[in-house]
Amino acid sequence: MAEHRQLSTWHNGHLSCARDLHRTPAELRQDPPKPAAKVHFKKTHIVASRTNPKLSNRNLRVAVIGGGPAGGSAAETLAKGGVETFIIERKLDNCKPCSGAIPICMVGEFDLPLDIIDRKVTKMKMISPSNVTVDIGRTLKPHEYIGMVRREILDAYLRDRAADNGAKVINGLFLKMDMPKGQNAPYLLHYTEYTGTKGGIGEKKTLEVDAVIGADGANSKVAKSINAGDYECALAFQERIRIPDEKMAYYENLAEVYVGADVSPDFYGWVFPKCNHVAVGTGTVTHKGDIKKLQLATRNRAKDKILGGQIIRVEAHPIPEHPRPRRLSGRVALVGDAAGYVTKCSGEGIYFAAKSGRMCAEAIVEGSENGKRMVDESDLRKYLEKWDKAYWPTYKVLDVLQKVFYRSNPAREAFVEMCADEYVQKMTFDSYFYKKVVPGNPLDDLKLAFNTIGSLVRANALKREMEKLSS
Ligand SMILES: Cc1cc2nc3c(=O)[nH]c(=O)nc-3n(C[C@H](O)[C@H](O)[C@H](O)COP(=O)(O)OP(=O)(O)OC[C@H]3O[C@@H](n4cnc5c(N)ncnc54)[C@H](O)[C@@H]3O)c2cc1C
Repeated sequence: MAEHRQLSTWHNGHLSCARDLHRTPAELRQDPPKPAAKVHFKKTHIVASRTNPKLSNRNLRVAVIGGGPAGGSAAETLAKGGVETFIIERKLDNCKPCSGAIPICMVGEFDLPLDIIDRKVTKMKMISPSNVTVDIGRTLKPHEYIGMVRREILDAYLRDRAADNGAKVINGLFLKMDMPKGQNAPYLLHYTEYTGTKGGIGEKKTLEVDAVIGADGANSKVAKSINAGDYECALAFQERIRIPDEKMAYYENLAEVYVGADVSPDFYGWVFPKCNHVAVGTGTVTHKGDIKKLQLATRNRAKDKILGGQIIRVEAHPIPEHPRPRRLSGRVALVGDAAGYVTKCSGEGIYFAAKSGRMCAEAIVEGSENGKRMVDESDLRKYLEKWDKAYWPTYKVLDVLQKVFYRSNPAREAFVEMCADEYVQKMTFDSYFYKKVVPGNPLDDLKLAFNTIGSLVRANALKREMEKLSS
């Protein structure tokens, strides 16, 4: 039952002060209330926001579907906050197709132990369509690096930590959910549990919960259950290649990014160092049917450096291009890839998955007063409001950068040329590392604007010349 609290009262058109409300009639006669300033608008009551009923004999129950970075961090926050928490993950040793690059702020913010980081990348090469190479990383401070993780290690670590804090991990495949039959009635989740006793077939089960966090990635079944709508996806393809030790030494702390129509018409190709191999990959939204051709081109561009390598794993997965039309319905919210939180241009999603999982869980913990009350849509909506305020500008800026610089080879040449500028490097790394819009130096900003325009003008002139040659 909703509770309404009246915060103030009216006395003959005057607002009485709180002190007067607690005095007896005799006290009021002796010392009548001082007239407050006359107010000229209509009589009104200020009512505190609706508060949900207290739960008796149990705490709030929340299911997190998916145990990737979004699910693991959501579950940890919920469990620490007094909520009875379940994570349903279909594959506990899941090795998510991913190159595993994380910003340094994630290590601190999520208290990650250094031994789960395979490599610390401090150098990066940006390689243009004509193979002009720009070294990036000169502006890094001694403690700064890009962390390279294996997803099977990171995801398991976050999930285990949630379990240590009280979350119940269920090895199961979420199938569907029945919607609540009344205002505070439960959601009924249907899933197949794999306990190992039925030879991998699993056992059909159900679970009643008060709220659901959909952290089940790009093909989210939770999103389908709430008719969250579709988003456009890129297809990313990656080969893990074990290369000879002397070749691996070159990639010790170095990553490569290749741009060009050959490797991707709308994204980039990469060689990222992992524990004992390199991850070579590419992605595209517009030419998914050509993905193997694009991958071959990426491998060819790096061929001298990966010569003698052996492909040990081939993997592909969709990457969402933008948030879903709906990320929330009733007491169900989407986070991470399920919501569509990967940035354009860089294709980064791990930090945003973990952060959105945590923010959503914080909103539930707060709304439920540490699991003691029921929550409603307005409690979960606080997470979306906070999220959009914090990150919308980042997504927009990277969207524009992708549109400007990944549209033609001359524009890509301009992009690489621009990356040689130390100021550009510093601004880019600071924004990536710390996930804050870093205030720039006005003079350097002006110089950068001129340089960018100069690069683009040169690129367009070059494009026109190339078009003349090919016509
Ligand atoms: C090739 C490639 C390279 C990438 N490289 C990077 C990179 O270097 N850096 C970066 O920041 N981002 C990168 N990304 C993006 C990044 O992988 C995602 O943004 C990130 O994994 C999102 O995390 P998540 O927890 O939301 O979803 P996921 O990591 O997809 O986790 C979802 C989890 O849900 C489970 N699940 C799914 N369906 C069900 C179900 N029905 N029942 C139970 N469990 C279910 C899955 O098994 C999985 O464990 C890359 C993506 C790709 C494809």
